[in-house]
Amino acid sequence: MARISFNSARDLVIAAETEKADIKHELSKSEVDVEQVTSRIERDEKRLASGTGTPKELEQLQHELQSLAKRRSELEEVELEVMVRIDAIDERIKALSAERDQYAARIAELEEVVVKESKEIDDAMISGSAQRNEISHSIGKELIDLYEKIRGQNSGVGAALLKGDTCEGCHLTMNAGERARVKALPDDEVVRCEECRCILVRI
Ligand SMILES: [Zn+2]
Repeated sequence: MARISFNSARDLVIAAETEKADIKHELSKSEVDVEQVTSRIERDEKRLASGTGTPKELEQLQHELQSLAKRRSELEEVELEVMVRIDAIDERIKALSAERDQYAARIAELEEVVVKESKEIDDAMISGSAQRNEISHSIGKELIDLYEKIRGQNSGVGAALLKGDTCEGCHLTMNAGERARVKALPDDEVVRCEECRCILVRI
């Protein structure tokens, strides 16, 4: 879940950054437009200040300057609007990046838990098999072989507790006759469940 959220936040950041690159391109174009009009205005103003030309030419120049000023203010509006859009997308990138980083931190936390728990399981398995080795030395080879054989056939269950008249391996209950027979057997006699065939540990 954290991984999916991280991926989608990361993709949204990438999409927003691509969009920002496009808008920045628009901004440079807009800046060039403004600069061109500004330099034309400067040129016309110089010519007007020099006073060279017929009165009609000077009047035309004044008209041109008026329309250029209008054009420049329109282009500046466009430039401003593009800058506002860049600010907005910067905000969006900031928020999405924070979200992405939060998920990344959560994933790191979860991964740490997985590593820690895997190690605990490994440790438990190592100490479990060490214990089993220790116990198997005190039990006869024949019984160990029988246990391993049943375990191999019985999806890992070779022995189970007999609690009252229930086998903890298959959770089936033995009938009264069977129970009486098992009860009468000596303690060191190997008893097996009639249902799942595992060795019953009588307590
Ligand atoms: Zn059983």
